[in-house]
Amino acid sequence: MEWEPVIGLEVHAQLLTKSKMFCTCPANYQDSPPNSTVCPVCLAMPGVLPVINQQAVEFVIMTGLALNCSIAENVEFDRKSYSYPDLMKGYQISQWENPISYDGWLTVERDGVQQKIGVTRAHLEEDVAKLQHSRDGAGEGYALMDVNRAGVPLMEVVGEPDLRTADEAREYMTKLRSILRYIGVSTADMDQGSFRCDANVSVRPKGSTEYGTKVEVKNMNSFRSVHDSIEYEIERQIKLLEGGGRVEQETRGWDENREVTVSQRSKEYANDYRYLPEPDLPPVLISREWVGELQSKMPEMPVDRLARFQNEYNLSEYDASLLVSAKSTADFFEDAVKSRALDGDAVAKRAKSLANLVNSELARLLNQSDIEVTDSKVTSDGLAELVDLLDARTISSTQGKEVLEAMFNTGDAPSKVVEAKGLSQLTDSGAILPAVQEALASNPQAVEDYLNGKETAVKFLVGQVMKISKGKADPAMVNTLLEEQLSAKK
Ligand code: ADP
Ligand code: MG
Ligand code: ZN
Repeated sequence: MEWEPVIGLEVHAQLLTKSKMFCTCPANYQDSPPNSTVCPVCLAMPGVLPVINQQAVEFVIMTGLALNCSIAENVEFDRKSYSYPDLMKGYQISQWENPISYDGWLTVERDGVQQKIGVTRAHLEEDVAKLQHSRDGAGEGYALMDVNRAGVPLMEVVGEPDLRTADEAREYMTKLRSILRYIGVSTADMDQGSFRCDANVSVRPKGSTEYGTKVEVKNMNSFRSVHDSIEYEIERQIKLLEGGGRVEQETRGWDENREVTVSQRSKEYANDYRYLPEPDLPPVLISREWVGELQSKMPEMPVDRLARFQNEYNLSEYDASLLVSAKSTADFFEDAVKSRALDGDAVAKRAKSLANLVNSELARLLNQSDIEVTDSKVTSDGLAELVDLLDARTISSTQGKEVLEAMFNTGDAPSKVVEAKGLSQLTDSGAILPAVQEALASNPQAVEDYLNGKETAVKFLVGQVMKISKGKADPAMVNTLLEEQLSAKK
């Protein structure tokens, strides 16, 4: 029997507001000492009242617009009750029947075509405090609690069970993260905990229209663990069913070290959240004018930018998709292209040179330091100037890499680096000829090979000339001169 996996993701993203969801404490807690960004509201003191953060509501509307959702006109908040030490009030303010955004979609690639994956809803809630479990010297367990995170605006994006493979799930998450970053509503950093994913997984006989029993997998803190845990879970369920067993509806956790999912909570112990309307908050009316205003401020989305980069700059899909994967990279690239007034083929040629530098050498340097282009010392103007030098053949492409690395480390302009390092390419035949003659004189065997018809010997000789010229000779010129000298010997 063939099995078909069914996957639906629930993603939580912390929102990039200045203050928390229902109080004026700063929402940015990552670098603050424990329990320093708190107030009576987020500490859940008796008698306090929450106030809705308008920016957070706007961010969920914007997310809805980016995900092709309908936007509700009238939304309410609800209390979701459960008891856990990290939940200060004993309930979380969330949205149950009235999510701000609903019925949207984004696409993933399936069999070479873009397939719509439904987005059920995007709603607003608040994050909880953070527990840190430790052991003392005597081996006694204890927990430390940091309330800074409590009350940070959290958006939950619930996806339809439309995904079919772990790869599709990863692509869905990558796209969602990219969209949230483009519209600036979340850093969506998984390793900082600002982007978290629970995966619901089931399998069914291929062709069946009914869903199988699902398992919810939690505790994944990287794209890789989401992908691997889904693959593991699909395998586990198929094996179980083929062995005559049944899948139990339960919550399982991903054990990163053993690379297995382990049972955490079965259905009998499932939470009864006892949702009820939050009496301390008024309903929020979302006027169509407000939605229209936000719509008009939305930036270009990654898919649109991808298509435009291919059309406007004649870039390959591969080059363009690397550039648009982060908004900061796409902006940087486009600023660099636009810093020179060019048109037609000249734009395409320059775009290609810039894309090559951004996607390879610069990407490598950024990766090594684990920073984004906006945090690096290289400016889009600097990169444009580097391409000027390469185009003018003032420096070779190898030297270009060296210059870029220096720009990256010091922030110096390329012309300054070239001067300081005494770089510059020899393009004058008179200056290169002595090196060519030296290479021919000291490699008689290669010359003889060439004269005996072994054309590849030229490559070796080019290498020798480059060595003698300390990498400064223009390779195209070296080639021409070598061929001239060799054919004279024929
Ligand atoms: P619950 O009530 O358990 O939270 P929901 O119906 O609200 O379940 O769905 C939660 C998530 O689980 C959604 O992302 C949805 O796409 C996914 N899901 C629902 N049913 C299945 C299923 N049979 N297999 C896989 N995922 C599912
Ligand atoms: Mg759920
Ligand atoms: Zn507070």
